[in-house]
Amino acid sequence: MTPSDCIFCKIVAGEIPARIVARTDSALAFHDLNPQAPHHVLVIPTRHFGGAASVGSEATDVWAPLMSLATEVARKLELDEKGYRLVLNQGADGGQSVGHLHVHLLGGRRMSWPPG
Ligand code: AMP
Repeated sequence: MTPSDCIFCKIVAGEIPARIVARTDSALAFHDLNPQAPHHVLVIPTRHFGGAASVGSEATDVWAPLMSLATEVARKLELDEKGYRLVLNQGADGGQSVGHLHVHLLGGRRMSWPPG
């Protein structure tokens, strides 16, 4: 089911604009509106999942295309050599603010660890 108020579902449907970087049948990559690094791309499944914790028996069908597109976009942005960070926030304690599963691809600067 696609919640009618899900902003990322609307991006998938082309109902609100986004700067699309790459698309497959099952995943979409677009620039984050509020970038935290020189390169900040969100990679999402085209099908709605509330977050990582909502992915059940479909795990392989969801994670493989998602992570595969994330690493492909990193390669396309020429981040492989210097490196990048993939981040997934789950739920309130994880800092998730949009209720549609997404992976942040961050690159173009040195990341600190641990994150704040
Ligand atoms: P999170 O806090 O992990 O849920 O991340 C949500 C991310 O979505 C934030 O980095 C926001 O800047 C980003 N975001 C929210 N709305 C949009 C939008 N319409 N287009 C692109 N990025 C968005």
